[in-house]
Amino acid sequence: MSDEERLAFLRSNYARIVDLLGFKFTSDEELVRDLLEAEVMLEKKFGAPYCPCQGRTNNRAEDMRIVCPCIPYHRAHFDAMKRCWCGLFIHKDVDDPDSLMQFAPNES
Ligand code: SF4
Repeated sequence: MSDEERLAFLRSNYARIVDLLGFKFTSDEELVRDLLEAEVMLEKKFGAPYCPCQGRTNNRAEDMRIVCPCIPYHRAHFDAMKRCWCGLFIHKDVDDPDSLMQFAPNES
């Protein structure tokens, strides 16, 4: 499978998963493309499509929490922000992803 085919597969697969969680892809197509390309590279190098904006610890149990889409593991936080850390996914009810803050209000 080529990188392009893998990217298309991840995109299609993620769309189904995040829809069930109340999220959708951001409308920023350039960001989607950049992040999915990064995930394809991370998957080739490390064996899973890890999050491009969260660091791996090399502890497998912990790292599994940042395999995309990591929404179930950070649900409360992402619900508060209405987006995931990278901004790849936003709440279904959001029209303008640029209007969202990056950090939840009560984060310490
Ligand atoms: S923060 Fe977003 S892009 Fe990163 S793994 Fe989680 S859902 Fe995927």
